Amino acid sequence: MIALLLVTLAAVLSWPAPRLMARAEAFRRSPRAALVVWQAVTVAALLAALAAAPAAAPLVLFDGQAVDQHFMILALVVAVSGLMLARLLVAGHSIGRRMRVLRRRHRELVDIIALEPQPGSRVRVLEHPTPTAYCLPGRQSRVVLSQGVIEAMPPRALAAVLAHEGAHLMARHDLLVEFFSVIHETMPAAVRSPEAMREVRLLVEVLADRASVRKVGVEETRLALLTLAGSKAPEAAMAAGVGSTAVRLDLLARPAPNRLMTAAMYAYAVGLILLPLGLLALAWTSR
Ligand SMILES: [Zn+2]
Repeated sequence: MIALLLVTLAAVLSWPAPRLMARAEAFRRSPRAALVVWQAVTVAALLAALAAAPAAAPLVLFDGQAVDQHFMILALVVAVSGLMLARLLVAGHSIGRRMRVLRRRHRELVDIIALEPQPGSRVRVLEHPTPTAYCLPGRQSRVVLSQGVIEAMPPRALAAVLAHEGAHLMARHDLLVEFFSVIHETMPAAVRSPEAMREVRLLVEVLADRASVRKVGVEETRLALLTLAGSKAPEAAMAAGVGSTAVRLDLLARPAPNRLMTAAMYAYAVGLILLPLGLLALAWTSR
């Protein structure tokens, strides 16, 4: 039965597939394509789970005996689709709201405690010796730097930090991470894959690092990364020191991947999305 196949597909896409994909380090060299692939695998898993009940519908509608014959399977697919839909709605509502509240409170706090902000600037400097830098995305975005980071870095490296944070804010990487968090929370804990979440967080950092390389330079970006290695930031923020510094430094040094690899990644992403949709179409047309 196709509905059962969709439930199996949802399980495969949310558990073993992300674990295997996280090992494909070549993905990271093409961070934009990799983010599309990660988006595709998580969306496809969710689509497969949501499509299971609709895929079983023709059986119930057009075959009077099917309900008695396949009662257990029908109950299972309706439960899977219904549960996922409910979890999706709850996660979508609560995660976005929670992040916005945390960010707003944090922004209000840094606006109060920051050292003499320049009029019209979104940069805020905190009187703290530990080097730290992060941004608070949103309509009234802020880039927060500690006094420590300003003292520890030459101006060119500081420009790299600002370019990195500016790239996060400009490209709204926070929305991408939020989208993933919603799907991550939607998946039941048993089949959720922390690898996917970790990889997405790393990839947005790699994208911001590359923006900084283009704008300021590779040496400055490297120095900025080394200075900020291991620095901490509040939960609602996107920090410059997030992700393994060693991995990010390594990726700075590597050339871009070949076009064939990138094209294959996009094709794989499209295939992932089409798979559950194709199976659902098949369930309705094969009767
Ligand atoms: Zn960052």
